[in-house]
Parts: sequence; C-alpha cells; structure tokens
Amino acid sequence: MILNHLDNRVKVHREFMKKYISSFLITNLVFSGCLLAKNPITDEMFTADPAAIVYNDTVYLYTGHDEDTDNTFYNMKEWLLFSSTDMVNWNSHGPILTVTDFEWAEKHAWAAHMVERDGRFYFYTSVYHKKDKPGFAIGVAVADTPYGPFKDARGSALLTNDMTTHTKNDWDDIDPAIFIEENGDAYMFFGNLVPKVVKLKDNMIELDGEIKVLDLPNFTEALWVHKKGSYYYISYASGFPETIHYAMSESLTGSWKYMGLINELAGNSETNHQSIIEFKGKDYFIYHNAGIQHDSTIGAGGRYRRSVAIDKLEYNKDGAIKPIVMTSEGITK
Ligand code: CA
Repeated sequence: MILNHLDNRVKVHREFMKKYISSFLITNLVFSGCLLAKNPITDEMFTADPAAIVYNDTVYLYTGHDEDTDNTFYNMKEWLLFSSTDMVNWNSHGPILTVTDFEWAEKHAWAAHMVERDGRFYFYTSVYHKKDKPGFAIGVAVADTPYGPFKDARGSALLTNDMTTHTKNDWDDIDPAIFIEENGDAYMFFGNLVPKVVKLKDNMIELDGEIKVLDLPNFTEALWVHKKGSYYYISYASGFPETIHYAMSESLTGSWKYMGLINELAGNSETNHQSIIEFKGKDYFIYHNAGIQHDSTIGAGGRYRRSVAIDKLEYNKDGAIKPIVMTSEGITK
C-alpha cells in the first residue's frame, strides 16, 4: 500500500512539476541566497511536520526529521525539539523520541502533536505498526517536561488501522491533532482523505466513544484545531500537492463553515503541514517547505528533505484568517 501511495504521489508530483514549473523557478529565485535568512529555521538538518506548543513563555516546536538521501521516500526515524522565547532565535535540543521507543511500531516517524495537561506532556504521533496490525497507527508518549524523557504511555497503539475502514488506504489514521476544551474535554482529530475526531478520556491515553467523520471539502490530511476569541478553527492540507485551507465554527462539534485558503503551495514541497499558535500577543503560522538550496552544508531540499519555516498569521476583524505571505526572512522581531 505504501508503494501504491508512493506511485500515486510520484504521478501527481510529475503533473505538478509540469504545471507549476514557472512557479518553481520563481520559488527558487526567491530562495536563492537566503541561507542566512530566518526561513527555514535551521539549515543544519531537514525538518518537517511542525507541531508547536506554548508553555511558560516558551515555544516548544516539535518536528519530524527527514533523512532521505536517495529521493526514495520519507526516511523518518525520530522526532526533534526546538525551543524559542522570541520566535526569532531557536535552540535545537535534538531528538526527543524515536520510532523504536514504541515497541509495537515498525517504522515511519511521521507527523505528531504535543499537548500539556496537568503538568504532563503528551506526544501523539503517527507511526507504522508492526505486522500484527499493519498500517499506520497513532501512539502516545508522555513525559514530565517538554524536553522529555518521553516513554510510551500505553505500551500499545492508541488507535490502529483496523479501527477505521472509511478508506482502503492503510495510512488513513495519521496526523493526530489534540484540542482540550476549557471544561477539560479532550478530542483527537486525525486522518488522511477522511477527517475524523474521537474524544479522549481524561487520562489522555484512551479513546472515549466512537470515531466520528467530519465534513471538510477536498480534505487530504494535516488537521490542526485552535481557538481564537470565540471562534474555533480547523485547518488542513487540501489537494495534492497541498495547500492549507480552513473552516470556522462557534462550537468544537461544528457545524464547520468552510472559509477558504490559508497557505499556498510551499516552495518545492508537495506537502504543507501547518501549526498555528499565539505567542506573546502575536499569531504565527508554522509549516514546512523544501527551500534549502544545493549549496547548503546538508545539500538541497526536496519532497523528502523538507524544512520548517515560520511566518506571521493575521486575522480580519470578522475572525477570518488572512492568506499567509510566505517569506524567506521569516520572523525577524
Ligand atoms: Ca484505517
């Protein structure tokens, strides 16, 4: 299934290359000479699938680690942590967890999400399960600090491929996104091709009730849920190559009103995975592109060699999100 998935992605990618070749040229021109710029946040390693939280006046930014060397597939074995107190200067803390820390997992350290509850830090993530329950699954690790050390909170997957049958894809249970209501109710949003949500028990490591399907147009993956003022926002990657779109609601349970595009195709990358946070009174859109150039110390970026970048996010007075302006400068103050 993974190979089929890859074949499809390759086909789509070829069409994308033809259709957007002029965009690529423009993108590469924009990115050339930006090695000293703030976007991406590091050119010392390839990073992808950002998931940020704000805790005690610090932003903790968790990412995947792209280690592809032969343009074959996503080669991801671990998750990384970066931190900042100003969104400009970032400290690298290295890997905080590897796939093998989940004994039941085989491979693929894909997109994750961090949430803090009662002083404990729960790290939900997509991994490929061993043969007894093949397909992508969601695991949860826990620690007493944002830095770890993290350990598997259950000793088993929180959610396995066999628990959802909406599509035949075995990667339909990826990209967890957690949201905790003010009353303490916690929900996990997740999915590829079919967006889904399930309530979590107060212990954060067990499902509480049935998995429900959401209605979001042209949904691909990468759900993220946040609240601003009285509105709930659900954003997601749409189409392939991906652009980021969103819907709004006055209730976490919907109904969701589709609002349109937040972010265009990200430079040189067919995926585009967002994390949205408010920090010290400003709003930020964290995503990945593949903008690292061939003359960097780690070589050129690409579809499997992505880089996390950050730009401002702004709201209109009516609560709508303004389309992101992706920059090579990034956040400068
Ligand atoms: Ca499934």
